[in-house]
Amino acid sequence: MSEVVYGSEIAKDIKENLKVKIDQLKAEGKRIPKLVVVLVGDNQASLSYVRGKEKACQFVGMENELITLPETTTQEELLSLIERLNLDTAVDGILVQLPLPAHIKEKDIIHAIDPNKDVDGFHPCNVGKLMLNEETFVSCTPKGIIRILETIGYDDLSGKRAVVVGRSNIVGKPIAQLLLNKNATVTICHSRTQDIENVCKEADILIAAIGKAKYINRNWVKEGAVVIDVGINRDENNKMCGDVDFEDVKEVCSYITPVPKGVGPMTIAMLLENTLQSYHKREG
Ligand code: NDP
Repeated sequence: MSEVVYGSEIAKDIKENLKVKIDQLKAEGKRIPKLVVVLVGDNQASLSYVRGKEKACQFVGMENELITLPETTTQEELLSLIERLNLDTAVDGILVQLPLPAHIKEKDIIHAIDPNKDVDGFHPCNVGKLMLNEETFVSCTPKGIIRILETIGYDDLSGKRAVVVGRSNIVGKPIAQLLLNKNATVTICHSRTQDIENVCKEADILIAAIGKAKYINRNWVKEGAVVIDVGINRDENNKMCGDVDFEDVKEVCSYITPVPKGVGPMTIAMLLENTLQSYHKREG
């Protein structure tokens, strides 16, 4: 039987801690950290993520501006907005909600954000620093996963085998790098991996980030492994679920994160932390 690790509870503690720090800045009459979120178009999932970020900013007392632009916004218009935000000294963090409409090149937009305000950690400068194990903005979901592992006592991962399923730029690759930076022996699996079940079965720490409902069952999991489920999917009853078959896998692993209330809330908490980190880099 495993222990269910609620990221929602860890995130709540982190947010309360951030609130204390921001209250302190207010009490000292200092400028308040500010996050600007840019949303282009009316993708419903994006809208709900953006609302979650807004709510979290309000909870900790951080300044938050949501800029919504129509689907027809041109790449040039978005680039000029980013340029303005880059130059605005009151702005600490800029987040452009992905995905963007097809006529806008995501890569160009990510590259245009000042790396010192790139609280999502997607700019190549920040990705490069992560590779070099230098201080940087670490992208929020991978950073949140590491915080979950630290909370359950998995801090130094020397001698541990970690397997990451998924190789995206926003989850799979950065979490693999962070696990490596913590001395784990890391394997990355993807859609072309052969014998994937058995590769996963070697993991002391298994990270699932593929986007397929309940895809990973107990046959993929070593007895006593830690299982972190990043996936956000809908099951056959349209209920939110992860990439892991939670009910099945929880019988064999030692720790498991649920979906919802697992990794998702940590992502938002890390975004706030990154914005405060940016503020302190600016203000000292
Ligand atoms: P992507 O679609 O960008 O990447 C999915 C990865 O999974 C790819 O590398 C793909 O392999 C791999 N994959 C797909 N099918 C299989 C398979 N059958 N076996 C092995 N590997 C497979 O997704 P993201 O990384 O952006 O997101 C992954 C999941 O995490 C999604 O459900 C997403 O909603 C969720 N998510 C959750 C967040 C949170 O805050 N909780 C934040 C971000 C994402 P290949 O490269 O070969 O195609």
